[in-house]
Amino acid sequence: MSSNSTNTNSTAATGGTGPSSSGGKSSTSMVIPNNETFAALFGLSLLFVIVFFAVLTVPRLLASLHHQRGKAFFREGWLLKPKKSAAARAKDALRRSVFLPPAQPTRQPTLRRGLVTSPAPFANDIDYSDEGHGVPASASVNIEGGGARPMSVAEEEGKYPAHLRTLVRHHREVRSAGAPAHVPSTSTILRSLPFAPWFSRPFFPNHVDGASNGQACMYLLYAAGFIVVAFLMTSGTGNLKRSGWLVIVQTPLVVSLGSKNSLVGFFLGRGYEKINFFHRWMGQLMFIASLYHVIGYLILWIRRNVEARQSATHIEAWAAFAGFAMIGVFSLPVFRRSSYRLFFNAHWIGYLTYLIAICYHVEEALYWSLATFFILGLDYICRLFKSHFTTVTLTALPDFGATRIEVPRLTRGWKAGQHVRLRAFTFKLGLFAFAEAHPFTIASVSETRNGQGVILYVKSAGNWTKKLYDAAAEPGKGGLENGNGTFLNFNASLASLETLGREEAAEGKGPALDDEKGLPAAATTSTRTLVGFGSGTTMKMVVEGPYGGPCGHMMRSSFTSSFVVAGGSGITYGLSVVEELIRDVEKLQSRTRLIGLYWIVTDPACLIPLLPTLTSLSNRVSYIPTLRFTLTVHYTRAVSPAFSAKVKSLPGGGLPRDIHLEPGRPNFKTAVEDFVKWKTNRLARGSDGLSGVLVGICGPGALARSVREGVDALDDDLRRSVGGVEIEEETFNW
Ligand SMILES: Cc1cc2nc3c(=O)[nH]c(=O)nc-3n(C[C@H](O)[C@H](O)[C@H](O)COP(=O)(O)OP(=O)(O)OC[C@H]3O[C@@H](n4cnc5c(N)ncnc54)[C@H](O)[C@@H]3O)c2cc1C
Repeated sequence: MSSNSTNTNSTAATGGTGPSSSGGKSSTSMVIPNNETFAALFGLSLLFVIVFFAVLTVPRLLASLHHQRGKAFFREGWLLKPKKSAAARAKDALRRSVFLPPAQPTRQPTLRRGLVTSPAPFANDIDYSDEGHGVPASASVNIEGGGARPMSVAEEEGKYPAHLRTLVRHHREVRSAGAPAHVPSTSTILRSLPFAPWFSRPFFPNHVDGASNGQACMYLLYAAGFIVVAFLMTSGTGNLKRSGWLVIVQTPLVVSLGSKNSLVGFFLGRGYEKINFFHRWMGQLMFIASLYHVIGYLILWIRRNVEARQSATHIEAWAAFAGFAMIGVFSLPVFRRSSYRLFFNAHWIGYLTYLIAICYHVEEALYWSLATFFILGLDYICRLFKSHFTTVTLTALPDFGATRIEVPRLTRGWKAGQHVRLRAFTFKLGLFAFAEAHPFTIASVSETRNGQGVILYVKSAGNWTKKLYDAAAEPGKGGLENGNGTFLNFNASLASLETLGREEAAEGKGPALDDEKGLPAAATTSTRTLVGFGSGTTMKMVVEGPYGGPCGHMMRSSFTSSFVVAGGSGITYGLSVVEELIRDVEKLQSRTRLIGLYWIVTDPACLIPLLPTLTSLSNRVSYIPTLRFTLTVHYTRAVSPAFSAKVKSLPGGGLPRDIHLEPGRPNFKTAVEDFVKWKTNRLARGSDGLSGVLVGICGPGALARSVREGVDALDDDLRRSVGGVEIEEETFNW
C-alpha cells in the first residue's frame, strides 16, 4: 500500500476500508496535504519548540565553554574514566589547589571541643552572630534595593591584620580572573514579569509529586495541537487515518525523549530523567490516538458490514497495536511503582513488536521505524561506551540503612549531581540481576586529591537494594555489621584524611591499584581503609554513566551562595554538590562564598557513617579564607543513647564545629529567608557583588515542595539584591 505525497482528503467517510490505507480518496477539488504530511508538520513544529528551548540555554553554554576553555567542557559529565597515572595526579594536585593544607599539619581538624586549635586565617570573616534574628547594627547591606556598595580593595584589606593583606588582594584578583561568569537563568530574568512566578507553582497544590503550572501548560498545548491536527480538514476515516499517522510520525521523537542518550537531551542540556516527563505525556496521547484509530475502524466495519473478516486478517495491525497497548498499560504508575521490572520489560518487548509490525501495516512507516531504530542504536552504542565492567567494594552501613559502594577504578569524568546505572553480575541479587540497571547518584567528586573513585550510597528500599545490603553485610566479609567500623576508625581518619591524599599525590604513590582487578592493593594505606570503607565484600558490576546533572549548562560555582537541601538518601546529591563547590573554590575557579547544607533524616544515627566525609569537607573549608560552610542535620526520631554515647566519645567530645543537630523538621520559609536575607546579603559587604543564590533540592516530593514554597515566598526586591534565586531539583523517582 502506498500513499501519495499530496492528495485530496475526502470530507465524507468514503475512504479505504482498513487502517492500512494511508490517504483519502479525492472528492473535492481543493488540494490539501495528505495525512502523513499533516502529521509530519506537527512533528516538525515540536522540533521547533525543542530548538526554542535549546536556544535559551545558549548564553549559559557559551559562558561554560568560555570558562572551561572549550575542550575542558567535555572533560566532566560525559564519560567515566579510570585513574590518571600517579605522576599526572601529583602534577595536577600541585597545579590546581592553592588552598592545600600544609604537608605536615600545624593544626588538628577544627572541632567544637577538645582538639580545637586556632581557626584558619580569617576563615570566619563573615559575622553570623545575628543569624536570622534581626539586622545587625553594623550591617551595611541594603536588602531592599540592589545590594550593598562593593567594598574597595583598601577597605577589605583594612579589615585584616597586615600579614594577611597580601593574601586578600591575591585571592580577590585570582578569584575574579578564574571565576565563571554568572548568567542568570531565563526564569530568573523573566521573574519580574506579571504571572511569571505562577509557572513554577504546582498545578495540583496538594499533589506533592505533580507537575508545575509551566509543565501543565506544555501538556495542554501539546494535547490541543494533537487534537487540532488530528481533526483539521478531515473527517470520518480521514481522521482515523490521521490519528494513525500522528502515532507513526511521532515515534522517533517520543523514543528520543525517553532514551538515556538522546540528541534532544544534549541540545537542551538536560539529562534523560529531566525530559522524561514529556516522553510519558506524548506516549499517553499517542496511545489514546492509536486506540481511537483501532476502535474507529472496528465501529466502521461493524456499521457497514463490509469486509467483516478484514479486522481478523489485519494481523500486523493488531500486532502493532498490541505492542503499543503493552507499553501504555504497563507504564501506568501502579505497575511502574510496584514492579519496575514488568514496566521495563513491557517497554522493550512492546516497542520492538510495534516498530516491526507497523512497517507491514503501513509501507511508508518503514522510514519512521528506521529513524527510530537509528535513535535506539545510537543510544545503545553510547551506553556501550559509557559502560565499565569492574569490581566494586560494598560496605553495609547499618546506622544509615544503606550500602556504600565504591568503584575504585573510576576516578574522573563526572559532575556533581550526576548518576550512574548499576548492573550486578552475581546470583546473590537474583538469577537475572544482570538484566536490571538501577540508578544511583554519585556522592563523590571527580579527580579528588586522594584519588578516590565513584562512591554511591544505596538505601535499602526494595528487592534489589535489600539483597545488595544483605550481600554487603554477609558475616565475615569485613562489612560494618555493628556500625562500629567507621566509628572506630574515625579518630584516625580525621587526623589523616586531609593530609594523606596530598602526601600520596606528592610522593606519586596514590592509592595503588591492582591493575588487573582494579582494586586497591592490599598494602596501600589509603584514605578509604583509614575510614573503614572499602574493606567489605567485592562484587562484579557494570557501571554505566554518567547521566543527568546540572540543567541547561548551569555552573554551580557561578553563584555566590548555595543552599542545599537533602532528604534521606538525597544526601548523595548534597555531598557531591558541596564537595564540588569546595573543590572549585580551592582551584580559584568559583564565586561561591557560602554553602549551607541541610540534611533531613528520621534517625540522627545516619550521620555517623558520613562523619569522616563531612568533617573532611569542613576541614577543607577551614583553610579557605573566603568560604563559609555549615551543615544542619534535622532529625525526627528520638536520639538513641547509643548515638549520644558515640557523639560524646568523638574527638573533642562532640560534633565538629560546623555540623549542627536540630530536632524536628525545618521551617523552610524561615530557613530560606534567613539564608538569603541575612547570610548571603551580608556577603555584599566584602565582595565584588553578588551573583545569585542556588537552592539545590534532592529528596521526597513533600520536602521539595516545602523548599519551593520557601523560595516562592521570598520578596522580589530581596531576590534582585542577591542576583536572583534559582532552584535545582533532583528526584529519585519518575
Ligand atoms: C536519577 C536517580 C538517582 C537515584 N539515586 C539514588 C541514590 O543515590 N541512593 C539511593 O538510595 N537511591 C537512589 N535512587 C533510587 C533507586 O534507584 C531505587 O531506590 C532503586 O532502584 C530501587 O530498587 P529496588 O529493586 O530495591 O526497589 P523496588 O521496590 O523494586 O522499587 C522501589 C522504587 O524504585 C523505583 N525503581 C526500581 N527499579 C528502578 C530502576 N531500575 N530505575 C529507576 N527506578 C527504579 C520503582 O519505581 C519504585 O518506585 C535514584 C533514583 C533515580 C531515578
